[in-house]
Amino acid sequence: MSVRPTPAPGAAAATRTVAGVLAEAAEARATVVLSGHVNPDADALGSTLALAEGLRRRGARVLATFPGELTLPASLGWLPGAEGLVPSSALPSAPEVFVSLDAASPGRLGEVAPLLDAAVTSVVVDHHASNPGFGTLQLIDPGAPATVTLVADLLDDLGVTLDQQLATCLYAGLAADTGSFRFGSTRPQTHELAARLLATGIDHAEISRRLFDTAPFGWLGLLSVVTGRAVLEPGTGAGLVWTWSSTAEAAEHGLPGEQLEALVDVVRSAEEADVACVLKGQDDGSWSVSLRSRGGTDLARIAIELGGGGHTLAAGYTSTLDREGTIAALREQLTRR
Ligand code: AMP
Ligand code: MN
Ligand code: MN
Repeated sequence: MSVRPTPAPGAAAATRTVAGVLAEAAEARATVVLSGHVNPDADALGSTLALAEGLRRRGARVLATFPGELTLPASLGWLPGAEGLVPSSALPSAPEVFVSLDAASPGRLGEVAPLLDAAVTSVVVDHHASNPGFGTLQLIDPGAPATVTLVADLLDDLGVTLDQQLATCLYAGLAADTGSFRFGSTRPQTHELAARLLATGIDHAEISRRLFDTAPFGWLGLLSVVTGRAVLEPGTGAGLVWTWSSTAEAAEHGLPGEQLEALVDVVRSAEEADVACVLKGQDDGSWSVSLRSRGGTDLARIAIELGGGGHTLAAGYTSTLDREGTIAALREQLTRR
């Protein structure tokens, strides 16, 4: 199979080209490996599973994975196709095509990243403002509210009909990354896609309940501790509200570490602060930092400065400093002119 890189295409042209490569690979029964980013969320996983299934239906030999240990949070493990994910250790070393989904940088692909170079063609499908553009072919649209919208376009181009299985995966990513259609990234086309997905007969209320509104009782206790120690710093940049927790503290409440992820969605409601920050202490002692802005701060820029990435209003990075050092470094970025 021969594939030529595209010359500096616009998003629409890139859609055709990426779709062309994938169609050609499927036609040739080629091996296609797909991976979302480490600690996959609903968009990373939904994108991976939907495109994997679509390519499989078109004839490709498909392997879908994500970096790290192959365990998923309860909120995502039920997505159709998740049971067919393979561990990264089981991947071929040089597939014909490798597709990276929802990963803002090669680093977010962890131990799967070498496939970007090892594959004959590597395709990057993403919507992060911080994405520098990597791989041989890109379908990167920072205006897209979720990577699943790009995957929906690809499935259309591949002539794959959306059914409930595909629509469930796509809807999960769409609802998650748009904050259930509340965020500014939501456009008329976003609702049009949602309408198409609902028309397949998916149980969207059940999907949302599983994704957003289900946690063990212990989460309420953790939430009260974490919000109770939140600090408001109105003078830091356009205002900062921050708090912290850790996988160890989650365990004290009988919770897996994944339950730390939703905390920032509560903390960011403090109206006095433009920026909300939750430090999530990891087993290895590092802090996984979640940042959200109400609209006045470019967090993608700040997260890049601090070694991570993301979107303008939602970004993250990892810090190996102690808690005070981590917040001090963030404060410095937020007050920098
Ligand atoms: P989170 O706070 O973990 O939900 O992440 C918010 C956004 O920032 C998501 O779009 C992530 O993909 C992105 N992000 C988080 N951590 C990193 C990182 N270390 N490098 C690049 N992007 C990140
Ligand atoms: Mn993601
Ligand atoms: Mn995303």
